[in-house]
Amino acid sequence: MKIPCVVIGGGLSGLAAAIRLARFIPDVVLLEQHSRLGGLNSYYYRNRTLFETGLHAITNYAEPGEKRAPLNRLFRQLKLNRKNFTLLQQKTSEVHFYGCQSLLFSNDFNLLENEIAQKFPNSIDGFIQLVDFMRDFDPFVPLPFRSTRQFLAELIKDPLLIDMLLCPLMYYGSSVEDDMDLSQFTIMFQAIFLEGMFRPEHSIKEFLDSLKEHFESLGGTIRLSSRVKGLTRDHKGKRVSRIILESGDILEADFIISTAGYEETFDLLDQELPETKEDRLGFIESIYQFHSQDRDQLPSDRTVIFYNSGEVFNYRQPQSFTDFNSGVICFPFNFENLVPGTHVEMRSTHLASYRHWKTIKEYPQKYLKEKETARIHSRRSIEKIVGKLNVNVVYEDTFTPLTIERYTAKKNGAIYGSPKKIKDGDIGLENLFLAGTDQGFLGIVGSMLSGVSIVNQHVLSRF
Ligand SMILES: Cc1cc2nc3c(=O)[nH]c(=O)nc-3n(C[C@H](O)[C@H](O)[C@H](O)COP(=O)(O)OP(=O)(O)OC[C@H]3O[C@@H](n4cnc5c(N)ncnc54)[C@H](O)[C@@H]3O)c2cc1C
Repeated sequence: MKIPCVVIGGGLSGLAAAIRLARFIPDVVLLEQHSRLGGLNSYYYRNRTLFETGLHAITNYAEPGEKRAPLNRLFRQLKLNRKNFTLLQQKTSEVHFYGCQSLLFSNDFNLLENEIAQKFPNSIDGFIQLVDFMRDFDPFVPLPFRSTRQFLAELIKDPLLIDMLLCPLMYYGSSVEDDMDLSQFTIMFQAIFLEGMFRPEHSIKEFLDSLKEHFESLGGTIRLSSRVKGLTRDHKGKRVSRIILESGDILEADFIISTAGYEETFDLLDQELPETKEDRLGFIESIYQFHSQDRDQLPSDRTVIFYNSGEVFNYRQPQSFTDFNSGVICFPFNFENLVPGTHVEMRSTHLASYRHWKTIKEYPQKYLKEKETARIHSRRSIEKIVGKLNVNVVYEDTFTPLTIERYTAKKNGAIYGSPKKIKDGDIGLENLFLAGTDQGFLGIVGSMLSGVSIVNQHVLSRF
């Protein structure tokens, strides 16, 4: 039997695409290789405690009345009632360049603007021009890559400020080394600085459960542990005729949305990509869990700190396992109105080299030792920024690019996927389109919007 629509991947873009399809088309099927939904933003259990794999803070905060805001558009497109979700806003976040300067920002954009006026008076006029440009620029028109660094250099006099603006936007959404596509920069600038950050009141599990329930209530089917092994084309080579699952099952579909990634989808089609493969950025993430009473030892008013302590800010593949000179420190208990449980967490993210981690993949002892060393170094770099941590760590864990590759099948475990983005989702086939990370909208809201917009553009317009 032919299925009208199949979505490959049960991450946030796949779930959003599937819900959007199921609102208009019966019998949508979502295939996820893992036994759990969520992809990069999922959860796992240790010591009977739920840990989120990827949630620091969700970007694109908007008040319910702001009808045109991406977040509210997303709720409407998925027909989800925003009243059923309690969103907790960040406290204050910070860009901290050790020994140089610090900039605070929050969901009130005036804070960042005032900080820049005070700390970079020579650049405030350029910054205001930049904001005006951002407000008028439509980043969703597919354009070729344009260097943000070159663009900023024309407007902003202080090179330090350029790096300080780029640091959070790169860490939360750039797959390109040391620069950003101007469209991507504009999307991230709006998402992080102009709109701001929040988290759901409960864990990502409850959020994923509500998406699952909603999809199923619209008649959709989720098949977990269902890895797509291959995609076969018809004799003309223009349409995918069969979806072959690892289980041996074969499905046929009128339309397929793949959120597996650009190169990953070509691998399924058994086709080599013509362009040379550029390096992909890898990350390492550590989680430190403490007793709630110890949180007095941690900053009480910082939600996320993006830091650099190196002489220059590098956003590129490290020459060793991990680059601790820069990173992200997150205190997930520091959201407004969040009631902490018995334990709280601190998380840290740094750039990591997939190549280096892969060399010890087959040596479990070495791999565990290297992860432990990474946690020690990471904690030292955090202490450099927030001061000595006199806390007892109850549980700690580290994900490397190998962990991410294992659980999400992302090539080289690269969270932000391929440096090449397919902005219109069109990879030259009549019935298969790309959504999610490699379409180019990154982060949780970004990937969900990607799922929705690719479905609107390529599938619903033809039904
Ligand atoms: C450590 C970490 C921290 C993060 N922090 C934040 C944050 O604080 N805020 C934020 O907004 N974003 C954050 N992100 C990024 C965010 O999670 C991602 O941008 C987003 O979830 C991407 O969703 P996606 O659906 O495009 O991709 P994915 O989540 O990768 O989904 C793709 C899915 O496809 C499945 N799949 C792949 N191949 C196949 C196959 N052959 N057959 C079947 N299924 C397949 C995978 O298993 C996966 O579930 C973080 C990510 C990580 C890893």
